[in-house]
Amino acid sequence: MPIIDTRPIVLTGDRTTGPLHLGHYVGSLKSRLVLQDDHRQFILLADAQALTDNADDPGRVGRNIMEVALDYLAVGIDPEKSVICVQSCLPALCELTMLFLNYVTVSRLERNPTVKQEIVQRGFQRDIPAGFLCYPVAQAADITAFKAAVVPVGEDQLPMIEQSNEIVRRLNRQAGREVLPEARALISSVGRLPGIDGRSKMSKSAGNAIALSATPAQIAEAVQGMFTDPDHLRVSDPGRVEGNVVFTYLDAFDENHDEIEELKAHYRRGGLGDAALKRRLDDCLQALLGPIRERRAEFARRPDFVMDVLRAGTGRASKVTETTLDEVKSALGMFGLRQA
Ligand code: ATP
Ligand code: MG
Repeated sequence: MPIIDTRPIVLTGDRTTGPLHLGHYVGSLKSRLVLQDDHRQFILLADAQALTDNADDPGRVGRNIMEVALDYLAVGIDPEKSVICVQSCLPALCELTMLFLNYVTVSRLERNPTVKQEIVQRGFQRDIPAGFLCYPVAQAADITAFKAAVVPVGEDQLPMIEQSNEIVRRLNRQAGREVLPEARALISSVGRLPGIDGRSKMSKSAGNAIALSATPAQIAEAVQGMFTDPDHLRVSDPGRVEGNVVFTYLDAFDENHDEIEELKAHYRRGGLGDAALKRRLDDCLQALLGPIRERRAEFARRPDFVMDVLRAGTGRASKVTETTLDEVKSALGMFGLRQA
């Protein structure tokens, strides 16, 4: 008799637009490391979604599959515990997207705050690729195809989960029963890590990221260039902690919270220089990223192993997503050759 896996299902993923960065580490990867022990976790390399704003450079999207997969393995995602799969190799996801598009309106898609912001960031103005406007629907297909109950994400993804649940409710209403479950977002304590410029979210596409694979010199350079308090001119001046990117990063990455609180008080009083503060952050990030970089280099020497992981994971994901697609089509009363 087959053993029924009753663990809650988790789905997460990353667009394959570049190597992963510190925002991914605190916003999502750390939760995935914990979840993989007692959840059934699927991790999607979202190359089809990445194409929606990279149609002029599909090669970049393809090349970065390997980079992101190496990042997963380097931080400790274990392919024996988590299923790592490639979105564009799962046709059921496209089919579900096509079905779901009928259960959402264009005006609803245009109201999505994250998409609105990204349209401005990417300079699309009025020339918005249709695929880009609809990517939250494709994301709903990803989440539901795996019947995910939990989706660990950064704050920018909350509107996507909401959109997905709306589609699920409409579809279930249409089918007259609960075909698909609603999902719950799991936001980490650092829901949104700002970029090193301190202005917007750290993101692969914005050029404001510290990659998990950054060299020691790149880390040092990024920390040196970080925005602090522009009015903190002399060491003796009182400084501002709020909006000071170095403190935001120390809060996110330095585990000695008591010492960080003391440093904040000292900075506010005056007498603590930016150079000392940045030295502490540099030490902290070098200690975090050094072992990740080494493990990444080891996996990079074994591309066949990484390909095997992707092949096996995509195969397992294919079975799950095809089954869900069949269930949805049949629940909607659609024609199916296999049932004839
Ligand atoms: P892109 O610029 O191509 O959109 P990205 O850096 O925003 O890339 P995604 O692949 O879009 O990364 O995001 C993958 C996951 O990582 C999502 O759950 C997202 O919320 C989370 N994430 C990305 N950036 C951050 C960040 N700066 N802080 C917290 N979480 C983040
Ligand atoms: Mg993004």
